[in-house]
Amino acid sequence: MKPLFLIVAYLVAVTLPLILSSLVGGPPRAFHQELASGLGILAFSMILLEFVLSGRFKSISNGVGMDVTMRFHQVMARTALGFALLHPFLYQGTLSGGQRPWDPSQQLTITTDFFDLSSGIAAFLLLPSLVLLAIGRTQLNYKYETWRLIHGIGALLIALLLLHHTVYAGRYGSQHLMTWFWVAMTSVAVGSLLYVYLLAPLLDKARAWRVISVTQLTPNQWEVTVKPDGHTGLDYKAGQFVWLNVGHSSFSMKENPFSICSTPGAGPDVSFMIKELGDFTRTIGQIKAGTVAYLDGPYGSLSVDDRTEPGVALIAGGVGLAPLLGILRQMRLVGDPRKVRLIYGNRVVDQIAYRDELGAQDVFYVLSDPPENWPGETGYIDAALMDRVFSAKEFSEWVFVMCGPTIMMDTVEDHLIERGTSSHRILSERFNYE
Ligand SMILES: Cc1cc2nc3c(=O)[nH]c(=O)nc-3n(C[C@H](O)[C@H](O)[C@H](O)COP(=O)(O)OP(=O)(O)OC[C@H]3O[C@@H](n4cnc5c(N)ncnc54)[C@H](O)[C@@H]3O)c2cc1C
Repeated sequence: MKPLFLIVAYLVAVTLPLILSSLVGGPPRAFHQELASGLGILAFSMILLEFVLSGRFKSISNGVGMDVTMRFHQVMARTALGFALLHPFLYQGTLSGGQRPWDPSQQLTITTDFFDLSSGIAAFLLLPSLVLLAIGRTQLNYKYETWRLIHGIGALLIALLLLHHTVYAGRYGSQHLMTWFWVAMTSVAVGSLLYVYLLAPLLDKARAWRVISVTQLTPNQWEVTVKPDGHTGLDYKAGQFVWLNVGHSSFSMKENPFSICSTPGAGPDVSFMIKELGDFTRTIGQIKAGTVAYLDGPYGSLSVDDRTEPGVALIAGGVGLAPLLGILRQMRLVGDPRKVRLIYGNRVVDQIAYRDELGAQDVFYVLSDPPENWPGETGYIDAALMDRVFSAKEFSEWVFVMCGPTIMMDTVEDHLIERGTSSHRILSERFNYE
């Protein structure tokens, strides 16, 4: 789906409960009370929409890119937290307590019934914990899978608590139409969780893959190739990625995102270029041929298939070569008439992967710690290097595709913008969302 459509769809979905609540109405109240309810309603709808912004829905993440989807997810979670934290305090000065004779429907009095408020209080405490745990995930140093499980269960709990609180303590949520609306919206959120953790793995189970080779490319980079086991394979575009699960049940949390470095035109086998980093990637060399694997995907928008620019610039740092290699291989395989140029940066010469295949024509190898007599570029992929490799005309006409360390991506992106490359001609994939 196109980004503009997605933004409009999000805005409609997030404000719909607020609009419906105002239509449902009630006796007039002071502004601060309406504001308190409005912020609570917005916070709840934003939290429910976070479930569909989890990155696992291709119609969303493939439209705007996985990194943009995850960044949006993070920003919206923090905004919802802000709204939720303000919500109870803005009721200050509002009558509270039991039934007043002049307010039989309790529209002007906020409840102090502990049962009605308890779920809201619990969610009020849980939500900041969940957001803080997500922000501090890397510093806290616990396993990614553990964090993911806590995040999913915590989010589910918060959604159910908020549904209870909205329906039992809410002036608007307690009205028939709104009760049903919130139940429906919560069901979509919970359903999306069930889809990711139950339905998608069930579908993946019927489409197993087998590892056919594990090859060491450089001292800490490997190529893993898998083959479809009794099915036709994956319908993907060069540059996309999948969640790869090797050697576990398809329901396992042990899956990691990896870009596909092979090309769809070369056949159904799918290859990954994987750098050793943590507990899974450090064990790649021990994977035996024949091991079962599951691929959830394809995801991502890093594709040049439908682009009309006359040239494609590929800028890779380290293992960021993976998706760009897929693109380069596809272009070479089909004899793509567009010009293509690759800049590939590493620290030392031993880290350069696929050197024989890449060749020397239109490939610029960059080393920050080069050996003596190194014939290629030295230093980092920076503004000066970009200016040596691309002309002013190329900056303004080509599509630039990049993947690598954050510092490299930021430097290249800033320079492209400075050189007048419009943002729709800059494509990137980030390997972490921090
Ligand atoms: C879209 C995308 C494409 C990627 N493509 C490649 C590639 O082609 N080659 C490559 O070597 N690396 C790639 N990565 C990075 C790769 O996913 C991590 O290096 C790998 O998951 C680390 O797993 P680990 O168990 O070895 O380390 P851990 O110590 O468990 O994880 C290290 C870090 O990797 C990230 N990570 C781990 N598991 C997941 C997960 N399930 N979902 C999201 N992030 C996770 C987290 O930021 C975590 O802090 C890609 C990442 C993303 C997001």
